[in-house]
Amino acid sequence: MSSIFIVDDSRTMRKILAGSLTEAGYEVIGNACNGEDALAQLENLNPDLITLDITMPEMDGLEALKRIIEKNPDQKVVMLSAAGQKDKVMQALKIGAIDFIQKPYEPETAIETINKILNS
Ligand SMILES: [Mg+2]
Repeated sequence: MSSIFIVDDSRTMRKILAGSLTEAGYEVIGNACNGEDALAQLENLNPDLITLDITMPEMDGLEALKRIIEKNPDQKVVMLSAAGQKDKVMQALKIGAIDFIQKPYEPETAIETINKILNS
């Protein structure tokens, strides 16, 4: 069972995504509400995949991504973007994110993207 760590400043988004992932057979091993929180928790966790929201207070997804990839270049990260964030998504892919999921998304779409990454 692949493990996933969710990073999003929206508690509702975290809850919904965790529910979809669990239902799809993934183990959600934790979640964080911003980049700083995520980096602190990831000191002690080794998820197969991280879902990373772009817009968050304290430390946003791009800065968090840089630090995560710096530390572990093989870490699989999927960005969660909003409409109008093409530039930031491109930056994220350059830094090392594997793919992105654009909000608002259907649970099936998110799961499909994540399945593709973890089964390839
Ligand atoms: Mg956000």
